Amino acid sequence: MNIHEYQAKALFEKYGVAVPKGVAVRTAAEFEPALAQLPDAPVVVKSQIHAGGRGKGTFTDGFKGGVKFAKTKADALGFAKAMFNNTLVTAQTGPAGRKVQTIYFTQASDITKEYYLAILLDRVSSRPVIVASTEGGVEIEKVAHETPDKIFKIIVDPAVGLQGYQARELAFRLGLSGDYFKNAVKLITSLYRMFWETDAAMVEVNPLITTPTGQVLALDAKVSFDDNALFRHPELVALRDLNEEDPKEIEASKYSLSYIALDGNIACLVNGAGLAMSTMDIIKHFGGSPANFLDVGGGASKDQVTAAFKIILTDPNVKGILVNIFGGIMDCNTIATGVVAASRELALTIPLVVRLEGNNVAAGKKTLAESGLKIESADTMADAAQKIVKLVA
Ligand code: GDP
Ligand code: MG
Repeated sequence: MNIHEYQAKALFEKYGVAVPKGVAVRTAAEFEPALAQLPDAPVVVKSQIHAGGRGKGTFTDGFKGGVKFAKTKADALGFAKAMFNNTLVTAQTGPAGRKVQTIYFTQASDITKEYYLAILLDRVSSRPVIVASTEGGVEIEKVAHETPDKIFKIIVDPAVGLQGYQARELAFRLGLSGDYFKNAVKLITSLYRMFWETDAAMVEVNPLITTPTGQVLALDAKVSFDDNALFRHPELVALRDLNEEDPKEIEASKYSLSYIALDGNIACLVNGAGLAMSTMDIIKHFGGSPANFLDVGGGASKDQVTAAFKIILTDPNVKGILVNIFGGIMDCNTIATGVVAASRELALTIPLVVRLEGNNVAAGKKTLAESGLKIESADTMADAAQKIVKLVA
């Protein structure tokens, strides 16, 4: 689960990570009162969407910049009005962009230098890793590609937590000294504690800045939490913003379906994440393009299958469906019954190819064949993929 920058910064403050003062609002009527709460200009006006690259983004009406530096509060008001309810397209949003429904006003900071700081899980060591760089405010992927020697990593042993010497080593490697060094060590230590205690999957501060007065501040904040740990953080679940999520994905989560929308036209309904991924691969291999990733899980019910079909069909790009089920725990006939019921209920008109294998497969195939519906049966994955690609073409 992702949260907004302003929410992440409120958490930062709670843990003692220094951030600029700011006020977030969700209606235009609150712009002026919010600005009045900040000390004098300059002010930075920041669009709140779950995507980065806002500063360099462009709105669909041509207005440039989802993060704007305003010399006066009057300018800030103008920028906020231009951004609000407008759609921002950035390198991370995809061409459709995201509608800005929250505006965050922050007190502008003087920047001496921009740095990069992130904490995430390192898959190789299976431990938290702190990544820092002297090159901040730019895409870290670019830094990693062009000047990898400017990125430092510290692996944390989760059993003992971040050690003082590790935080000092990072601050030292960033070239900091004096107050900057002291403040950076405090910030890194506090940020790690927040990462750990909130079960975060990733915390990214880009840029982390130093100011002429010796401060070290998190100027931007991107935080995502491990969904599997959310049950023990109701206060974090309350930060979820459904405006930022695909309605199809929200509906799928109600039925415990793992659904991710993609931009192709062949919908997939598969059990098991690995099989779902190889199904997408084989569709691509035969020249098609998957419309989604959908894992119905190991023991899907008829209701889940019907819900899955409904979700798939709300995507106007979908021109065909491929059902690929391996009956390990799952009874193939349960799936077949679900597929037939869903096709009838939804009066399915687009091509449907079903490949069943495993537990009770004969009964499943019989159910499909006797349904009287136009359901194409397939024996192997390659056969199924070729059939649906051809039908959709
Ligand atoms: P992003 O574009 O989505 O990553 O949004 P950021 O919050 O990182 O803002 C983009 C850029 O705007 C930053 O990298 C800074 O260079 C600049 N910026 C943001 N806030 C301030 C500020 O308070 N003062 C100054 N001088 N620049 C700022
Ligand atoms: Mg940034």
